[in-house]
Amino acid sequence: MTHRAGRHFLQIPGPSPVPDRVLRAISTQTMDHRGPDFAEVGRTALAGMKSIFKTEQHVFIYPSSGTGAWEAALVNVLSEGDEVLMYETGHFATLWKKMATRLGVNAEFIEGDWRGGADPDRIEARLRADSAHRIKAVCVVHNETSTGSVSPIAQVRQAIDAAGHPALLMVDTISGLASIDFRFDEWGVDVAVSGSQKGLMLPPGLSFNAVSEKAFELSKTGGMRRSYWDWQEMATINGTGYFPYTPGTNMLYGLNEAISMLHEEGLDNVFARHQRHGAATRAAVRHWGLEVLCRQQGQESGVLTAVLMPSGHSADNFRKVALAHYDISLGNGLSKVADRVFRIGHLGDINDLTLAGTLTGVELGLRKAGVPHAAGGVAAAMDALEDTRITALAAE
Ligand code: PLP
Repeated sequence: MTHRAGRHFLQIPGPSPVPDRVLRAISTQTMDHRGPDFAEVGRTALAGMKSIFKTEQHVFIYPSSGTGAWEAALVNVLSEGDEVLMYETGHFATLWKKMATRLGVNAEFIEGDWRGGADPDRIEARLRADSAHRIKAVCVVHNETSTGSVSPIAQVRQAIDAAGHPALLMVDTISGLASIDFRFDEWGVDVAVSGSQKGLMLPPGLSFNAVSEKAFELSKTGGMRRSYWDWQEMATINGTGYFPYTPGTNMLYGLNEAISMLHEEGLDNVFARHQRHGAATRAAVRHWGLEVLCRQQGQESGVLTAVLMPSGHSADNFRKVALAHYDISLGNGLSKVADRVFRIGHLGDINDLTLAGTLTGVELGLRKAGVPHAAGGVAAAMDALEDTRITALAAE
């Protein structure tokens, strides 16, 4: 590996760049996870994650990638043969459904075109048709990382209630949490799933479940056979600040630092920053004459923007050229949209200048790869940033 001067631009939609403060916290010497000092680390992490999920109910932390927490969510409350309603927002919704099917759950998809979030009206209509209440849970991806579309979770809860249906609401907010607004208690979510490597600004390696009292009670007698993922044993031991097995000690140091940083900035400011960067990125994309994959106004993500390539041009070739020449990693198109889209991550520890550098890298890459576009997208993004900055200051 040869040295490349300057900072690599890691602008995929997670893992996101890890701030120095978090890296330093992680590099602190590992401690005895059963010793007297650990309880404080464990308690701080559990309480901190409650503040991020905005819940007073239960939170569990696993040393695993997000996929593990997906499985934990399913196996603690669902039994083989149970019916669940899932919504095809994109690649990650499809993978979650595949997992449910593998576990023996009867998962039904409301089909989507991968160009927007879940439609609460379609969920309500399907639940109204289920008069026998066979559907045990509605599963929705909050921020669909493969498409850059956001599902309106509060409205999905309203749709479930409007249908008078008892189904649980299960939400994957692996790439939404700590970047875009998420309110577990207020929105009536029953199980939420998240991961460390996106808005929480950590490396991959930790995952999370937030769990309502209702889901927690159900898991006492229900769910599938399970051991490692079981909430009940975890809850008992977590009460003392410890874990039933060796936790990711150094990742927890990092998590506590990241949570402090998020609260120092203020969660609302974090969310506003992501919205601004999403809007500025879309201004650049539209100026280039390219198309944003999400076409539902108001559902465009503040976490990432997926961009459609003009026909006849390979998104993967463009990404390869941008990486080789400008040292920037952009996200690839997944499954159905492979090679047709590229994804610009604008999540986590980034500011206006990071975004400007990122968009400059994209524009230079388009030019170098011979992709037709109108020059000046970065200037359009700067205008968008300036406009929202003025509004923000005026509001103070
Ligand atoms: N769900 C969403 C929305 C994701 O973005 C990802 C990963 O990018 C996953 C699930 C899977 O998480 P992991 O790769 O950490 O297992």
